[in-house]
Amino acid sequence: MNLIDTHAHLDEEAFQSDVPEVIQRYLDAGIKTVFTVGTTAESSLRAIELAKKYDSVRAIVGIQPNYVSECSATDWNTIEELSRLPEVVAVGETGLDRYWDYAPFDLQQEYFTKHLELSKTLSLPFIVHCRDAEADVIQQLSEFAKGEKLNGVMHSFCGDQKSAEACLKMGMHLSFSGMVTYKKNEELREVAKFVPMDRLLVETDSPYLTPSPARKKIKRNEPAYVVQTAECLAELKGIPIEEFAELTNQNVSNLFHI
Ligand SMILES: [Zn+2]
Repeated sequence: MNLIDTHAHLDEEAFQSDVPEVIQRYLDAGIKTVFTVGTTAESSLRAIELAKKYDSVRAIVGIQPNYVSECSATDWNTIEELSRLPEVVAVGETGLDRYWDYAPFDLQQEYFTKHLELSKTLSLPFIVHCRDAEADVIQQLSEFAKGEKLNGVMHSFCGDQKSAEACLKMGMHLSFSGMVTYKKNEELREVAKFVPMDRLLVETDSPYLTPSPARKKIKRNEPAYVVQTAECLAELKGIPIEEFAELTNQNVSNLFHI
């Protein structure tokens, strides 16, 4: 098998002591590539360092909506510079978050637009973080798209079918994390079932959101466990995991040009 984890945070504290082991474990589990996602200028710099050091790691750079208050003009310049490096496959994660109250909403919107514009300038896809803000995200995306097709990913998608439809209509890809494996999330599984196979991606969002059944044994998620989420999605789609891996890898190469 040959899977790609399209969203992890390998630069985070939780991985600080054992990145080489974490990487070896996912390679052994059949994961060939992991996208590590920056959340601040510093974190994006660390993502680039990891991508330079390890062949299987690629970087995504940006300011996560909960960190935009701390972002200086210099930090944003850093993101603009980093996004031009060959290790970078996308811009983000950007978007809107109404769950946490770490940054004023209008500032989040401003940075969301900045990321969208940067991704357009560089012809790179963008990664959207959306928490309790589906309607706002969809509105801002559609205003930006002006009817044109968007090259972006709704990461760790957890919206309803109506939001999924709206995102798909704009050309977005939907990426599912371990949340789709949780027993209580029957509705989310129905949404995943409905997403066309050529718009589906899989991710861990590690160190967060450990999928079931690994969740019973361990607290910290890591890219190796993307297999469990892929198994759940393959079952929902009624296809073998190998075929699921092949099809989602095709989506990754279409979207990220790797
Ligand atoms: Zn993330």
